[in-house]
Amino acid sequence: MLEVRDIHVSYGPVEAIRGVSLDITPGEIVALLGANGAGKSTTLRAIAGVTPPSSGTIMFEEHALHGLSPHRATSNGLVLLPEGRELFAQMSVLDNLRIGYWTKRKDKAQYHQQIDTMMSHFPILGERKDQAAGTLSGGEQQMLAVARALMPAPRLLLVDELSLGLAPMIVNELYEILRNVNADLGTSMLIVEQFVHMALENSNRAYVLSKGEVVMSGSSAELLSDDSIIATYLGGEATGSTEPEPPRRRRRVER
Ligand code: ATP
Repeated sequence: MLEVRDIHVSYGPVEAIRGVSLDITPGEIVALLGANGAGKSTTLRAIAGVTPPSSGTIMFEEHALHGLSPHRATSNGLVLLPEGRELFAQMSVLDNLRIGYWTKRKDKAQYHQQIDTMMSHFPILGERKDQAAGTLSGGEQQMLAVARALMPAPRLLLVDELSLGLAPMIVNELYEILRNVNADLGTSMLIVEQFVHMALENSNRAYVLSKGEVVMSGSSAELLSDDSIIATYLGGEATGSTEPEPPRRRRRVER
């Protein structure tokens, strides 16, 4: 479904991504892990067309995405849920959802179906549909951000730091909803998450980035069962860690 090959991204003199390759097959939830500054957000932004790679290729369902604008990427069935939600605080829940449907606005019949689908997966948004987004709790705002990203019915959702600023219980609830969406709608997902255990428990496979390179990949169950991986590549228990020294050898768990 998604085939990323050897992409490089630089911010001026800073080479943030150095030859990242990864794959996602239909229906998979894949986690992208790594310490702060490893290049996770940059990888998501590169796939979504926000920060185009200077070299390498990104194929999505056999269409080349590299060089396309974020708008074109969304039209192709891929949506980025950025870190920090970016809701329209003064606008109602319903209007935020409507904006999420913008790229598909000509398909009016499908719009109502999508609203119904979102209300069934996020019942609290139905209860709050006329409320201004800015008055929702942090967890509800994140639910709205996820629902808005799902409005155009993407086949691949890129999720950056779902847990940002939220209590673990709320994050668990959000991941449960994402898993249900994945099971019911077949939406594939690439998730960047600082809580490593939570990411591995809610994904099929994972890639670990260090200093802009993939240093490990494997099934989430395998990665979860090896504590040394978290200690070596993720600087201990995942939160607030900074980029560790690069490992001397690459190790591949799967394939
Ligand atoms: P975090 O978990 O802290 O968000 P990350 O793994 O998502 O980290 P990125 O945000 O992709 O990492 O950053 C990768 C590298 O690129 C870092 O060294 C960062 O300082 C640098 N970087 C990111 N965005 C910019 C920017 N807009 N301008 C310059 N350098 C940047």
